[in-house]
Amino acid sequence: YSLDLFTYPEHYHEDIESVYIPHGIIMNRVERLAHYIMDDFADNNNIMVLCVLKGGYKFCADLVEFIKVLGRNSNKYLETRVEFIRLKSYLNDQSTEQLQIIGSGDLSFLRGKSVLIVEAIVDTGKTMKALLKHVETFEPKMVKVAGLLVKRVPNMAESLTDYVGFEIPNHFVVGYALDYNEYFRDLNVVSLSGQSVWLQKETEYPAL
Ligand code: 5GP
Ligand code: MG
Ligand code: MG
Repeated sequence: YSLDLFTYPEHYHEDIESVYIPHGIIMNRVERLAHYIMDDFADNNNIMVLCVLKGGYKFCADLVEFIKVLGRNSNKYLETRVEFIRLKSYLNDQSTEQLQIIGSGDLSFLRGKSVLIVEAIVDTGKTMKALLKHVETFEPKMVKVAGLLVKRVPNMAESLTDYVGFEIPNHFVVGYALDYNEYFRDLNVVSLSGQSVWLQKETEYPAL
């Protein structure tokens, strides 16, 4: 059997090239990142988690769950408070120059706190650089960045990302909350896009 048949909802069968990272592999890796994060934040009683919407919602939920479970199992419980920020920089698969911060513009509750920014994907790093600059203005005690996916591009942003889930080639990916024009967030795997298919079906994947 093709793995794809088990992991794609029926309505996406035509539109996805292949599973790129299966759900179980994502979960294993997220658990590993939770370990690293707990070690680094061990001196703190709590973490202020800043989830970058919409793409970061699954990664953030799973990461926070692992931090809770690992804390319970090791008696080193680390309290997490989750806040959300919505950024918008893409239309279709094109990065637009201006970063819009939608909602949670006032992050003054971050002052003096240990902050973990949780973002699904870091590509050129422009978005993360702008967000870090914004977050720093609120004078947190420390800021770390978790990126599930970091793209291997020239001048890659790896150094911006303290916890890298997977370093991936420069392909457009969807799934596990990452979208193409708001589609495909409901996949629990990371998938290769099949852009050629979508371009032919423009009317079926209109920009929302
Ligand atoms: P950057 O500013 O690092 O170039 O872009 C980061 C943002 O672009 C991410 O937050 C994400 O929204 C979007 N992005 C970059 N690469 C991809 C990709 O392969 N797939 C999807 N769905 N979004 C991407
Ligand atoms: Mg995003
Ligand atoms: Mg998007």
